[in-house]
Amino acid sequence: MSSLSRFAGKSPWLYRINAGSCNGCDVELATTAIIPRYDVERLGCQYCASPKHADIVLITGPLTTRVKDKVLSLYDEIPNPKVTVAIGICPISGGVFRESYTMSRPVDEYIPVDVNVPGCPPRPQAIIEGIAKAIKILESRS
Ligand code: SF4
Repeated sequence: MSSLSRFAGKSPWLYRINAGSCNGCDVELATTAIIPRYDVERLGCQYCASPKHADIVLITGPLTTRVKDKVLSLYDEIPNPKVTVAIGICPISGGVFRESYTMSRPVDEYIPVDVNVPGCPPRPQAIIEGIAKAIKILESRS
């Protein structure tokens, strides 16, 4: 199956990975799944429960040493082409946790990040905008 036919007639699937966040970003992400005003289905997306079905991965948290191996394993399960969106300042720089002994390195030292959505936490509108950018990148890779 060509990359193009993979997306023909189907909507991008979103998959969330919590890389040790404080849950602030995850609460904002939840609004994009359950509140009609910010619902990602307006963009033709849906959340999925399995990394094997995902097209776009949304990562929250600073990548703690405790979850690093699991996060990288989940990321590897997502088929290519995939687009990665870093949600919040934590996956970009470590944010308020960057000096912590529990921190691994920033996410983009292990995973190629395509879109950054800064904020602590970012507002749902910014998350929607980041997902819209990710959809465009995904289409360009199809
Ligand atoms: S960016 Fe802020 S709200 Fe999001 S996980 Fe980090 S500390 Fe929490």
